[in-house]
Amino acid sequence: MRLEAGLRELPTLKERLRGAEMITDERGALTGNRALRKVWRGNVALIGDASGTVDAITGEGLGLAFGQAVALAESFQTGDLDAYQKEHRRLMLRPRGMARLMLTLDGRPWLQQRTLQTFRKHPEIFRRLLALHLGVLPPLRLVRDGLTLGWGLLTA
Ligand SMILES: Cc1cc2nc3c(=O)[nH]c(=O)nc-3n(C[C@H](O)[C@H](O)[C@H](O)COP(=O)(O)OP(=O)(O)OC[C@H]3O[C@@H](n4cnc5c(N)ncnc54)[C@H](O)[C@@H]3O)c2cc1C
Repeated sequence: MRLEAGLRELPTLKERLRGAEMITDERGALTGNRALRKVWRGNVALIGDASGTVDAITGEGLGLAFGQAVALAESFQTGDLDAYQKEHRRLMLRPRGMARLMLTLDGRPWLQQRTLQTFRKHPEIFRRLLALHLGVLPPLRLVRDGLTLGWGLLTA
């Protein structure tokens, strides 16, 4: 989608930008989920997008890169890069799960609609999913919400 097409769907924003001068080229980048089997070998270790990515829809790329940098620095101290591999996998787990969850809605307008209806009806589920996304809620708490969300989707 180009900017012009996007703005057609957001009339309020389009109105606010009317008459604004474009001062740079329109730019974009590809995004996606990519997992590597190993993030280090010999004397090379990868962090950030080079070590695997989660879809940009999660907004987690920078946080992951910083978390991985801290984990890698700790592994340098102990000289144990396997520990970095394990921590890397752990750090990616939640964002990867959330990316999968969000991308399930991609290209399924009926599911998008039902999900939003369910969130409207049960705002606490949305709040808890957001908390899970931010890592302030343990995944186990989601089991109950997952069932309620599933039931909501079936009955919306
Ligand atoms: C559309 C989109 C939206 C995003 N939105 C968010 C968001 O809202 N929040 C968030 O946290 N993250 C977001 N991300 C992800 C985030 O941008 C990345 O996770 C983050 O930039 C990764 O940092 P990095 O340093 O690993 O890689 P990069 O930022 O890609 O840095 C790598 C650098 O290496 C340079 N480089 C490549 N090859 C060479 C070479 N051979 N020699 C020298 N230099 C080289 C590149 O030019 C680049 O500057 C988004 C990503 C995309 C694509």
